[in-house]
Amino acid sequence: MTTHLLINEPGAPQGAGARTSFGGLPSVPAGFAWPVCKECAGHMQFLGQLRTNHPGSRRDQLLLLFKCDNDPGCCDEWEADSGGNAVVAVPSDASLSLAAPPAGGETVRATHHGARLDTLDGDYDAARDAWDTGGRRGRDILGQLGGQPSWIQGEEVPLCNDCGKEMEFVAQLEEGPDHQTSMNFCGGGCAYVFACGCSPASAKMVIQA
Ligand SMILES: [Zn+2]
Ligand SMILES: [Zn+2]
Repeated sequence: MTTHLLINEPGAPQGAGARTSFGGLPSVPAGFAWPVCKECAGHMQFLGQLRTNHPGSRRDQLLLLFKCDNDPGCCDEWEADSGGNAVVAVPSDASLSLAAPPAGGETVRATHHGARLDTLDGDYDAARDAWDTGGRRGRDILGQLGGQPSWIQGEEVPLCNDCGKEMEFVAQLEEGPDHQTSMNFCGGGCAYVFACGCSPASAKMVIQA
């Protein structure tokens, strides 16, 4: 097997686009509403966006990732179904523009960077070990796109709200290259992103640490 590692690319193009990036503002279609946390009713924080056009992907989409950061640890933001996080799936060929951040709340991160894919042999852990040699910074590994999840805790595949079946793994994400602007996955954890082929809008995120 091979693993497509997401590798940090400092800086990111300004402006809207259907490309993988972290921080900054989400690229959204007309009619987008910034997600609100179901636990605290505050606007969630935009973490980043994933373009799922990697080799082996079944759907080319742009997945916008949000997590409540208004009161960290209090909104069950690690659970797929708590409403403390959200994955908004957008068609990658939609006409996109940058969303305006809502007033107030912890909605935008103080970073903006891109990512490239490096394909290595082995599962996620083996690929990480192979990449993180020769003076490279392991923290520049942002996660993986496609492949198999490497669970920190037990397997936790969410069920699709539309068809009730187990969802398809799309990505695993680390907290990011800089601890000061990290995505705070419960302190050194990972986020696991899922989608379902039954509906173009079905997508979820689970966080483990
Ligand atoms: Zn909240
Ligand atoms: Zn489904």
